[in-house]
Amino acid sequence: MHRAILHSDMNAFYASVEQAERPELRGVPLVVGGREETRHGIVLAKSARAKEAGVKTGEALWEARAKCPGLVTVPPRYDVYRRYSELARRIYCQYTDLVEPFGLDECWLDLTGSLPLSGGDALRVATEISGRVKAELGCTVSIGVSWNKVFAKFGSDLRKPDAVTAITPENYRRLVWDAPVGDLLYVGPATRAKLHSSGIDRIGELACASPELLRRRLGKVGLVLRAFARGEDSTPVSPSDAVRGGGGRPIKSIGNGLTCPHDIDRPEDAKALVYLLAESVAQRLREARLRAFTVAVGVRDARDLASYGRQTTLPRATSATGLIARTAWGLLAASEPLDGSHPLRGLHVRASNLEPSDAPQQLDLGFDARQRALDGLDEAIDGLRRRFGNACVRRGVELLDESLIDVDVKRDNTVHPVGWFG
Ligand SMILES: [Mg+2]
Repeated sequence: MHRAILHSDMNAFYASVEQAERPELRGVPLVVGGREETRHGIVLAKSARAKEAGVKTGEALWEARAKCPGLVTVPPRYDVYRRYSELARRIYCQYTDLVEPFGLDECWLDLTGSLPLSGGDALRVATEISGRVKAELGCTVSIGVSWNKVFAKFGSDLRKPDAVTAITPENYRRLVWDAPVGDLLYVGPATRAKLHSSGIDRIGELACASPELLRRRLGKVGLVLRAFARGEDSTPVSPSDAVRGGGGRPIKSIGNGLTCPHDIDRPEDAKALVYLLAESVAQRLREARLRAFTVAVGVRDARDLASYGRQTTLPRATSATGLIARTAWGLLAASEPLDGSHPLRGLHVRASNLEPSDAPQQLDLGFDARQRALDGLDEAIDGLRRRFGNACVRRGVELLDESLIDVDVKRDNTVHPVGWFG
């Protein structure tokens, strides 16, 4: 039996929420980013009109203004975006209990079981959901409808904003196979480059490629991607599967990185960044109910853009923010002079060598009391954040760099759980 899977994507999410909240912003080219008065900051999100003018996420606000006269800038309000995300999920949950978030503004829904109750027509339900989000939240969504998650996601990307697109067994060769192979979920830049060098440029070519060639070039992942390109994706939609990679496999590491809005050449700034990144890595570990033995820090040098990394393995696994942050900072401080002669452009913190958080740990007197206290503190902070949003609690060290206060790392740099797919 074919499944009925929806993928719903809120269009230009941050900017749309601002326009829904503030009618005077509707129809104007808008970016969410730093503060207008300070002249500093980067574009975090843009409205459709700003996008048409060529404004790009991550560029400096002054560059965006040069491209788009009349551009309006508003500072981000992550607590508001999180509330809209939650409200959209509540609408989805009225149609099925199988709702799997993918970032803040995207969800998969499996309607297979509930469809008979709602008339048996997935396209009609998708259209109804789209209408409700628009009427109740004032935001548009694009929805893909298909028999598997990968094609449903493709459908929601194919036509936007405000569209419902069905990818069916009859039309997928026409709609999906002509598209560049990089448009397929889980094909990241590294994988795409390997496929290109094997002469595979389109999704249809991946679908029809020889399994031996793909195995040789990409290993098992190549075979999984080939199956996805053929619509042979039976990955379940599961609220608890957000912590797993494609194919339901367990994730191998959780990392978070940031290309800095400006060069970092002061130890205080580097430390603030390390703590900001470690915070989100630790939070995601705890959401996934995992602990890590290995902590790594990666650096991108501002002068030659060379990257290097350092890692260490702890005597016991942890998901405590403070321990991960101190470990990562220790690694960085030991290998980098940070005296102004070595400015950084990018930083990365990664936790790997994971175990489930309910795995038994050897008792280690002395260490244990401190660890338990740290775990308790982190759980309290997670609870506050669930209720009031990520910005409500910040470690003091993060406040050292003004420009970082506007960056919600967990959202902006969430690497969807596909990193190890390449
Ligand atoms: Mg979106």
